[in-house]
Amino acid sequence: MSDNCLFCKIAHGEIPSRKVYEDDEVFAFHDINPVAPVHLMIIPKRHLASLMETDDSHAELLGKMLTLAPKLAREQGLENGFRTVINSGKGGGQEVFHLHIHIIGGGNIPPMVKRS
Ligand code: AMP
Ligand code: ZN
Repeated sequence: MSDNCLFCKIAHGEIPSRKVYEDDEVFAFHDINPVAPVHLMIIPKRHLASLMETDDSHAELLGKMLTLAPKLAREQGLENGFRTVINSGKGGGQEVFHLHIHIIGGGNIPPMVKRS
């Protein structure tokens, strides 16, 4: 656990969240400021700042987080699909530096990249 990391504190129950899933390695909860009717976050319990800090040794953990996404999405009623977003580093627009997968869905999800 990293001191002063918001998502470490959420994963360890020190800061409240609307939890939807927990096991020994992974924690999932509702985003506090949703951009769509369903907006979940999947995080590792162990501190990892971003995808940029991962290597082959994290493959199993990352696979577990990704395969959890459709299960949690279905539980939230997203039968038609959902968007996953992982912002990595300042160059990727990341704001909270503890790796997280956004799961976004419901309502109208526009194309992510607008082309003129
Ligand atoms: P990112 O820009 O990818 O780093 O995403 C950070 C996300 O964390 C944003 O969508 C925030 O709304 C969300 N967030 C920040 N603080 C909290 C919190 N206390 N509980 C739940 N989600 C949060
Ligand atoms: Zn952390």
